[in-house]
Amino acid sequence: MTRIFRFAPSPNGELHLGHAFSALLNGDLAREAGGQLLIRMEDIDLARCRPEFEASILDDLAWLGLEWEQPVRRQSEHFDAYEAALDRLRAMDLVYPSFLSRAEIRAATESPEWPRDPDGAPLYPGLDRDLSNSEAAKQIAASAPYAWRLKMDAAIEAAGPLAFLELGSGPDGETGQIVAAPARWGDVVIARKEIPTSYHLSVVVDDALQGITDVVRGEDLFHATSVHRLLQTLLSLPQPTYRHHGLIRDAAGRKLSKSEGATGLRSLRNIGATPADIRAHIGLPPQPTPRT
Ligand code: GLU
Repeated sequence: MTRIFRFAPSPNGELHLGHAFSALLNGDLAREAGGQLLIRMEDIDLARCRPEFEASILDDLAWLGLEWEQPVRRQSEHFDAYEAALDRLRAMDLVYPSFLSRAEIRAATESPEWPRDPDGAPLYPGLDRDLSNSEAAKQIAASAPYAWRLKMDAAIEAAGPLAFLELGSGPDGETGQIVAAPARWGDVVIARKEIPTSYHLSVVVDDALQGITDVVRGEDLFHATSVHRLLQTLLSLPQPTYRHHGLIRDAAGRKLSKSEGATGLRSLRNIGATPADIRAHIGLPPQPTPRT
């Protein structure tokens, strides 16, 4: 079986050293496995993603020495595939339209004891989880903004116990066979009124449609894997293996952000850094000479 890896940036800014590490690690592992590397543009957020970022990302990746299969998949061109998955979840009665505004969520969850998800956000209070279909339809027709959320408890019950194989490690050193814990995320957003999908939904649909066997990505997405396993199971999609890697941090130990000039690949290229310098700087071995 050909192993298929992917690097999946969001074209909402320039790449930095953290992206370079993830992309090059995917490329190295794909090469070692005699497999393939795919690039996927995670551009569902149409307000923040731009074609010029996509172009500069692809240019940087080629400059780093990566080679990938064509075509590059753009999520914004596949909303119908995500809507079909959303329809399946709807038919299973596992999603509901939620209408609470940010301020209403804040008010309902302000107690210090209110549970928080692994990213630190309060769990959705679920006050509209049990609205009747006609009441929900009335609110949708009134064109209130809403998000489709997963009925987490019902989804977990429908899916049964879940695990995934971690070949790297999570933020606390978790490795090997990991018991998935999607309940920690509460009723996650699956799609929005104006964007018919979400990160979680499109990532599992695309990993399946693209035949991804190996997901290699930053450890900041380790806990999200539990939601991905849940959605894969509900939608009868195959499960890849996972390898989460440590993040490249700045001198103060913070995660890099897209606005960070000094660690941006563009600025490093402009001051004369070579792809070999970048590999050395982020602790990757020199690129082997391509086989002829
Ligand atoms: N698009 C995500 C990001 O840029 C990566 C998603 C993934 O690898 O699953 O952080």
